Amino acid sequence: MIERLCIIGVGLIGGSLARALREAAYVKEIVGSSRSAENLQRAVDLGVIDRYDTAPSRAVEGADLVFVSVPLGAMATVFASIKDALAEGAVVTDGGSAKASVVEDVKKAVGRLPAWFVAGHPIAGTEQSGVEASFPDLYKGRRVILTPSVETDVEAVKKVRAMWEAAGASVNEMDVAHHDEVLAATSHLPHMLAFALVESLARMSEQREIFEYAAGGFRDFTRIASSDPVMWRDICLANRDALLVMVERFKNDLDDLTAAIRIQDAHKVLEIFQDAKAARDAFAG
Ligand code: NAP
Repeated sequence: MIERLCIIGVGLIGGSLARALREAAYVKEIVGSSRSAENLQRAVDLGVIDRYDTAPSRAVEGADLVFVSVPLGAMATVFASIKDALAEGAVVTDGGSAKASVVEDVKKAVGRLPAWFVAGHPIAGTEQSGVEASFPDLYKGRRVILTPSVETDVEAVKKVRAMWEAAGASVNEMDVAHHDEVLAATSHLPHMLAFALVESLARMSEQREIFEYAAGGFRDFTRIASSDPVMWRDICLANRDALLVMVERFKNDLDDLTAAIRIQDAHKVLEIFQDAKAARDAFAG
């Protein structure tokens, strides 16, 4: 059980963790922090947190567990401001969508990778943001990846694992680089493509009635382009090395498909679509 949990960034990810742990009666007190006192007061009114402080260094005082769930571009500033204010024995973890950049931010802030930091990433979310969008079941039956390093205290990892399990998730461990490669393929590339497609069509739509004829397929494919642009800008830039490898790979595959369509290679086009359908059906099933 957590005595005092501090959540820095009480939005979809941080707010949902708070709600889940409350529902599981796994936490006694939750203190929130972010830039806006108005958003934090809303989180108090919704019963998500007990109290707040807009200064992260004051919010972490006396907390035994600190969860940082701000956009990736804001992580470095948060770690720099909390590192000297943590209670003795406090464990710090995060929910950022890319892990190498967060680990670098912590190293820079502290001067080394501290034993008390456990990098993590819940593989759960929606295209909504803010505390209003948070809900207690977000992590039920979902995976959380932890990417501890050799420096990380095993007891700290156990504490973070137990927290996520109390929230209903199952926890896997992975190394940082592998995490970033896997997520570039399964999450960051699809988001980039959805944003790029909608932007491309939106520019065409200035001259034509494109969106009037968009139906279910367009809606399904582009749902994630409604996600927060700041968050996704930060993710694409933070994980650019792994993302760019995936983009090149995808461009080659798209070139192959384009060539097959151009020369009317019906067999090749059908083969690609059949393989894709089988893979998608297996995933969905
Ligand atoms: P969100 O709903 O927009 O919440 C972000 C929170 O961070 C808000 O409480 C915001 O509050 C605060 N914040 C923003 N900039 C800040 C700053 N400079 N300093 C302090 N607080 C700041 O976003 P989210 O979806 O919860 O995402 C949070 C983290 O989880 C990100 O690192 C993201 O990569 C990761 N993640 C997201 C998803 C997803 O699907 N959404 C899934 C897994 C992981 P104020 O505006 O009041 O400052």
